[in-house]
Amino acid sequence: MNNEQKSSFKCRCCGECCRIKDGIVRVSDEEIARIAAFLGIDEQSFVENETLLAPDRKSLILKSRENGECVYLDENNLCRINSVKPEKCRTFPFDWMNPDSATICPALSVERLSR
Ligand code: SF4
Ligand code: SF4
Repeated sequence: MNNEQKSSFKCRCCGECCRIKDGIVRVSDEEIARIAAFLGIDEQSFVENETLLAPDRKSLILKSRENGECVYLDENNLCRINSVKPEKCRTFPFDWMNPDSATICPALSVERLSR
């Protein structure tokens, strides 16, 4: 996204980007420490109970529910760890997106149509 697109983007808080089937959210060591502290649990417990090894085995990822949504997505489509969410979540769709992101994110569909 260019700066103009970034400033005009209006997230609809629909939570669709947090419930992508087979989507993964990698977490770095620093992010693990930050999220664990925010949740009030120790890092070891967080790693054991709240993360999984990524399919490529290169990092840990946040757990998902059976339907694919992130375990931190609440019933109002809000992120329960918003203030400490991982970089991958903070930077979507401003700094990265996938080829099919506009089919998932309604705000991106509008953005594309209005270009
Ligand atoms: S951590 Fe928050 S923003 Fe990231 S996928 Fe989970 S619910 Fe969505
Ligand atoms: S899918 Fe798009 S509009 Fe919906 S919460 Fe994510 S960024 Fe916002």
